[in-house]
Amino acid sequence: MRTITLENVCKTFYDKSRKLTPVLAIKDFNLRVENGEAVVLLGPSGCGKTTLLRLIAGLDHPDSGEIYYNDVPLDAIPIEERGIGMVFQNYVLIPHWESRKTVGFFLRLRDREDEVPAHVETVAKITGVDIESLMGRFPRNLSGGEKQRVSIARAFARDLELLLFDEPFANLDAKFRAQARVELKRLIQEFNVTLVYVTHDQVEAMSVADRIVVMDAGRIIQAGAYENLHANPDNLFVAEFLGTPTINKFWGVVSDGEWDGSYMGRARLPRRRPNGCEVIVGIRPDHIRICEEANGIPATIDRVTPYYAEKFNLLEVWLRKRRWQIQVPLGQSFVPGDTVYCRLDWSRALFFEATTGTRIR
Ligand code: ADP
Ligand code: MG
Repeated sequence: MRTITLENVCKTFYDKSRKLTPVLAIKDFNLRVENGEAVVLLGPSGCGKTTLLRLIAGLDHPDSGEIYYNDVPLDAIPIEERGIGMVFQNYVLIPHWESRKTVGFFLRLRDREDEVPAHVETVAKITGVDIESLMGRFPRNLSGGEKQRVSIARAFARDLELLLFDEPFANLDAKFRAQARVELKRLIQEFNVTLVYVTHDQVEAMSVADRIVVMDAGRIIQAGAYENLHANPDNLFVAEFLGTPTINKFWGVVSDGEWDGSYMGRARLPRRRPNGCEVIVGIRPDHIRICEEANGIPATIDRVTPYYAEKFNLLEVWLRKRRWQIQVPLGQSFVPGDTVYCRLDWSRALFFEATTGTRIR
């Protein structure tokens, strides 16, 4: 196990032909991952997750700033002593190697090949998956999911201190992903290593992480446990990125010390803002209710989508020219074109400065 510390890490990609503007992929990044902690880097495509993971692995070097393993600069640690197990999104297994050879690679190099069967047995026992039956096969005879299981078994088959995963299940179907997350969680708990896991998928992040670091454009936007990020976002980016269905946004302006959303009504702000200040209100789809006509905001149903597993209907409605999403219990029937009356739970509303996206609290 080990801690990882990133101090003011920057990474820019320059175009060799000098025609394109340089890409500032990682900007002044500071992070400490504790011993045995599972940290997930979560953010949209292109925000710098893979770049950061490669820097942590030592596959790339920062332009400035420093990375430490257990407070020793990464550059001072020989590659063979770094103890990293890695799994990538598209792990290209060597085509003419059967799985046993792939999994045993690290141990074979150290003349410890006799440890491989016990290792495979351990991984199979922890995950509850019969990977032994995959050991005699070549990559061409493995499904995508089985290939990733072999990659994962290989990542664990070494003297492991640190696991680095880059969207390992992104190319697999939903059912397998759910199963694979459970298996991985068991392995992580059993092996008790430090983990940095990259994904753009919040469900995956939630199921793997002790702590989620939300990234955008090469920076940390907010870090914390999922529930906290979801309920208490510091800004509009986090509020919109986390939570399915997505949060609804309503634009308004401060007048007489209150938020004025015209036909949306008025609301009290958590903190005084000057009149004329533009403020966006965010309300999650499960914080809007359908109510009796007299006291609701009228909206026209556009589409009804049932989510049977989660036990709700998602109503997409038009209000004037704006589209909202409302989550209602299954059972009641709704017809596109009908008018429904909605009431917002203002106690759950989140307020953001429209210009910066910063939360007002
Ligand atoms: P993510 O993994 O979050 O999708 P990446 O770390 O792959 O994002 O990329 C971050 C940014 O850096 C993107 O704008 C990407 O185009 C750019 N980038 C990544 N690798 C290179 C490279 N080798 N050369 C030039 N630009 C790159
Ligand atoms: Mg990536």
